[in-house]
Amino acid sequence: MSEKLKPCPFCGGKAILREYQEESDGMMVDRGKEATCVSCPASIAIRIVPYDGLSDATALSMAVTLWNRRAK
Ligand SMILES: [Zn+2]
Repeated sequence: MSEKLKPCPFCGGKAILREYQEESDGMMVDRGKEATCVSCPASIAIRIVPYDGLSDATALSMAVTLWNRRAK
């Protein structure tokens, strides 16, 4: 993967990409990709579930784009 995250715009910390998901009563209620700072609570999450039609790769790319735009 060639996409790189810029440092956190709030604290200058390292930013990482990760997948997150939440389940309720065994049902997947929320899933997506998230760009998040390891040093403070800053994050941008792109939800894949419950919305249809968004691929994992697209969600990841959107998270990177939005994070880097904020970090400008
Ligand atoms: Zn930060």
